Order: sequence, then structure tokens, then C-alpha cells
Amino acid sequence: ARPSSGGSSWTREQTLVVVKPDGVQWRLVGYVIQRFERRGFKLVGMKMLQAPERVLAEHYHDLQRKPFYPALISYMTSGPVVAMVWEGPNVVCSSRAMVGHTNSAEAAPDTIRGDFSIHISRNIIHASDSVEGAQKEIQLWFQSSELVNWADKGHQRSIYPP
Ligand code: GDP
Ligand code: MG
Repeated sequence: ARPSSGGSSWTREQTLVVVKPDGVQWRLVGYVIQRFERRGFKLVGMKMLQAPERVLAEHYHDLQRKPFYPALISYMTSGPVVAMVWEGPNVVCSSRAMVGHTNSAEAAPDTIRGDFSIHISRNIIHASDSVEGAQKEIQLWFQSSELVNWADKGHQRSIYPP
């Protein structure tokens, strides 16, 4: 279920969202799902797992030389996470806006981080930061057989134009 244009004028945009171990511990999984569903985005994959070190090493490849990297990996392996794939127009950009700034102090009120996080090292949730990055992250975290390509049957906020 890779994004494809399918002959249509729009592209099926998807993003990876991960509720991090603190988000799971603080019972925020349902709230996160509700924020994305309320917006009208479509859930196409979801699983709870203990994030494998191999997946995290690839996921945070660009941060490997940062001083906080070991702390980041121990945080991300401190408990289970819930990984999801959400779909809809501009879902990458909209997700980042709902999630809020990486640094909790700069995360606006009403963003998920702005409401539930006070420190960058415990910031509740991940969302992909670009369309290309999202495609790579989805392939890293999910088998294609774990993604469900279900038809959107006339929801009032139907996410794609006909
Ligand atoms: P994101 O895309 O908003 O999640 O931010 P980045 O891609 O820049 O960083 C990935 C994750 O690394 C962040 O969400 C934090 O969990 C963690 N992180 C980033 N910067 C810092 C830092 O300065 N200190 C610590 N402890 N963790 C950080
Ligand atoms: Mg990032």
C-alpha cells in the first residue's frame, strides 16, 4: 500500500506517527487517535510494540552523533510504543502542526506537545517531518501487509475529492 497517484490528480499522502513510551505510560494513545480522527484523517495502520534497536537506529540515524543520542535510545526503549500510519491531504504538515514544536518550551498550547510535555527529552509523540521521510519511516516501521487500504464511504469530512 505505497502511496500512488493511481491516475488521479492527487497523491495519497501518508505519515508515520509514534506515541512514545511516555505517551503510552500517561494513557495518551486514545487522545492522540482522537485528535487525528477528529481532523478527518484516515487510520491505515496501527500496532503496539517494543521498538527494536535496529528500527530506532535507522529512524534516528541523523541524530547518531548528538550527545543526547544514547539517552534518546534508552527513552525510546523504556517501554512499548504505538506506531500508526495516517493518511490524507497534507497529512505530514498537518500532523507536525498538531504535534507541536520539538522543544516543549516552544510548543504552542493546544498542540499535543504543548499540552502534555515540559521537556524535549520526554515529548510524547513522533510525526514524520517530510513526505519523503514519511515514506521511508513507514517502510521501516511497517510491512506493507500491515497497512489497510480501506474505502472512505462518504464521511462528512471525506478526505479526498472524488
Ligand atoms: P522531532 O522531529 O520534532 O521529533 O525532533 P528531531 O527529529 O529534531 O529529534 C528527534 C527526537 O530526539 C525528539 O523528538 C526528541 O525526543 C529527541 N531530541 C531532540 N533534541 C533533543 C535534545 O536536545 N535533548 C534530548 N534529550 N532529546 C532530544
Ligand atoms: Mg524528526
